[in-house]
Amino acid sequence: MPLDRAPPSPEHTGVLYLDHAATTPLDPQVRAAMLPWLGERFGNPSSVHRYGRRARAAVDEARDRVAAAAGCASREVVFTSGGTEADNLALRGVLERWGPERGRHLVVSAVEHEAVLTTARGLAEAGAATLTVVDCDRCGRIDSGAVAAAVRPDTVLVSVMLANNEVGTVQDVPAIAAAVRARNAGALVHTDAVQALGKLPLGLDALGVDLLSLSAHKAHGPQGVGALIARHGVFPAAQLTGGGQERGRRSGTENVAGIAGFGVAAELAERRRDADARRLSALAGRLTNLLVETVPGIEPTGDPSARLPSLCSFVVPGCRSDLLLAVLDELGVCASAGSACSSGAPVPSHVLAAMGFGQLAGCALRLAAGRSTTGAEIEAAAERVQQAVARVRAGGRIATPTP
Ligand code: PLP
Repeated sequence: MPLDRAPPSPEHTGVLYLDHAATTPLDPQVRAAMLPWLGERFGNPSSVHRYGRRARAAVDEARDRVAAAAGCASREVVFTSGGTEADNLALRGVLERWGPERGRHLVVSAVEHEAVLTTARGLAEAGAATLTVVDCDRCGRIDSGAVAAAVRPDTVLVSVMLANNEVGTVQDVPAIAAAVRARNAGALVHTDAVQALGKLPLGLDALGVDLLSLSAHKAHGPQGVGALIARHGVFPAAQLTGGGQERGRRSGTENVAGIAGFGVAAELAERRRDADARRLSALAGRLTNLLVETVPGIEPTGDPSARLPSLCSFVVPGCRSDLLLAVLDELGVCASAGSACSSGAPVPSHVLAAMGFGQLAGCALRLAAGRSTTGAEIEAAAERVQQAVARVRAGGRIATPTP
C-alpha cells in the first residue's frame, strides 16, 4: 500500500469531506512517525539519560523539518499547542516585551482569525493595548497603504494573515510588511500562515515578516501542535513560564509525538506543495463553476485572483448557514460556514460582514478540497449542494442531528 494514501475506511463510505480548512485527516506517514512515541518509545526531552536524549533528537529533527518548510532557521521555531497559541504568543509576547519601550499600539486586519482578533480586542479592552482594525474590500483584500496609514510611532506590532480561512483571500504580505517598515522601522510584523502551509510558499525573508504562525492539523498533521516562527533576535515574552523549554520561549514538556508528526507533515506539505496546489485549484475551480451554473443566486466570495487553491466560498441568499450545513450533513457532505465555531451556534461571519455582505454574512458556505478529494466527489458534492439549497429554500424539514 502506498504510504501517502489512507485505506478507505467503511466509516467514510458515501461521505464527502469538504471541510479541509477546518482540519485534515492524518497522513499515514505522519501517523507512522508518531506511533513509536505513543507506544514503546517515551522519554522527557529534558532528561539527560538515553531515553531523554532520544526524545530530544526527535524534537530537534522535527524542528529542522518545520524550519525547512517554513523558510527559517531551526532555532527560530517555537513549538506550541497550535495556531491559536502561536497567535497569542505573537501578540501578547510582543506587547509584553516591547510595549513599555516602543508603545502599545496594535494594528490587525478585520479579517483575522479569532485567535488574533479576539486576543487583540481583549488586550485593548483590558487597557493593555490600543488597537486599530484595518478594513478590507469586497474581496477581503487588505490594502498595504491602509495598513501603513494605521501605523503610528507607538505601533509595536502589525498582524495581517497570509490566507483567510473563511474566504481564501491571500494577502500581499510582502507589500504590507514593506509599507509598515517604511512608516515605522521598529514595528514588528506578524502573519498568521496557518491556512497556507502546503499551499503557498512561506519564509520569513520572502514574506518580510518577523513572526509567523503555523498549525499542524491544517496540513495532515496532528491536532494540538503548531509553531510560532520568531525571527532570530525577536524574542516574545513567554506566556507559559516554568521549566524554560523552547529556549525559554514556551515552557512545558514537549508534545513529542505531536511534534514528530508535525515535522513529517510539514516536510510532506512542502514537498507536495506545487502538485497539490495545481490539483486542488482545478478541483475547487470546477466546484465553483458547477455551483455558479446550477444554484440560482449563489455568489462566490473572496479574491478570485489571489486565493487558497483548495477553498471555495460562497454566500447563498435565502439559506441560513446553520440550516444549509445541517441539510448538507444529512446528505453526507461535511462543509462549513467559515470558521469552525466551538459553540456550534449560528454566528454571522465577521469576515463577510467586514467585506460588506450585510445580512448575507449569515448565509456563508465554505467547501475545501483536500489531498484525497477526487473529481467524482466534486461532481457529487455539486449535486448535493444544489439539492440542499433547494430544500432549505423550500423550508424543508430537518431531522434532528445525531450526536
Ligand atoms: N488561524 C487560522 C487562520 C486558522 O484557520 C486557525 C484554525 O482554524 C487557527 C488560526 C487556529 O489554529 P489551531 O486550530 O491550531 O488553534
